[in-house]
Amino acid sequence: MSKTVFLPGGAGFIGSHVAAELLTLGYDVVIADDLSNARGDVIDRLEQITGRRPAFYRIDVADRPALTAVFDAHAIDAVIHFAGFKAVGESVEKPVAYYRNNLGTTLTLLEVMAAHNVKELIFSSSATVYGVENEAPYTEDMPRGGCTNPYGWTKAMIEQILEDACVADPALRVVCLRYFNPVGAHESGLIGELPNGIPNNLMPYITQTAAGVRKELAVFGNDYPTPDGTGVRDFIHVVDLAKGHVAALCYTAKHTGWEAINLGTGRGTSVLELVDTFASVNAVPVPYHIAPRRSGDLAVCYAATDKAKRLLGWQAEKTVADMCRDSWRWQQHSDKL
Ligand code: UDP
Repeated sequence: MSKTVFLPGGAGFIGSHVAAELLTLGYDVVIADDLSNARGDVIDRLEQITGRRPAFYRIDVADRPALTAVFDAHAIDAVIHFAGFKAVGESVEKPVAYYRNNLGTTLTLLEVMAAHNVKELIFSSSATVYGVENEAPYTEDMPRGGCTNPYGWTKAMIEQILEDACVADPALRVVCLRYFNPVGAHESGLIGELPNGIPNNLMPYITQTAAGVRKELAVFGNDYPTPDGTGVRDFIHVVDLAKGHVAALCYTAKHTGWEAINLGTGRGTSVLELVDTFASVNAVPVPYHIAPRRSGDLAVCYAATDKAKRLLGWQAEKTVADMCRDSWRWQQHSDKL
């Protein structure tokens, strides 16, 4: 019998790519999303890509009766939890809304899971939980905290909540996946990232600049202690990231307790290297200027990848050129969808 996996927040950028992988592999997929930062036609696209349609509920995951109805309607074996606000800058302006939403959805989810005896949970965490006091490459045993914004703190706090829940219930099986910088898109060009308004993140800003939607990219700082002075990040293709979730699902099926695992490539790429690779593989100019540093940004951030290899048997395979190619294809398709 195939496993039924529930994806709260599964219509978003990462969730939709995980749904595509799971459907292709024969898992039954149930998505709940309030579509506050996603489009409902993602469900049609998933059917187009995989030939299988996930069950879909347009609900707020913090709405307990609505969430309970989903768990009553499906024999859910495991949950991959993507539901949360994710804009760093907005979290500084609206901290209470971020804590209310990100923690609230998680707490309700844990209560409803407990009531239905569902024990497997994979959580969308972030490299941001390493904060400013640790240094790259980040290893999972480093202390959490020192986050530079409320969004990051919600991830660190949720990890703590899940760790405590695992101590109290030894039957729980939880993996917190710490994402580095997910970019790229499905190679079908049918699903990808849909930023709300002006993008905060680098890759969507690059693709919109190349498309002429934005005039020029601002490169935030060229005086960091890095080879070319610009920030260094561990960009990871969203399809590799999605495959990491499938590997984590195989892991939670066999292991109880709590684990945090990085999903990154282990390789740092600077802002200007990414811009140059994008421009050359896609043969499209990306006008940019150097601007002051953005507050809260680190100079260098990349993953130690040994734990993912050891526990999940997973490692990223796609190159930065693949990421640039697929992001550009998506940018060109997305306005026609
Ligand atoms: N960045 C930039 N211009 C932009 C957006 C981002 O120069 O318009 C830089 C940013 O300073 C950082 C890197 O790109 O060094 C990645 O930023 P992003 O917001 O994508 O992810 P973060 O690592 O901050 O979560």
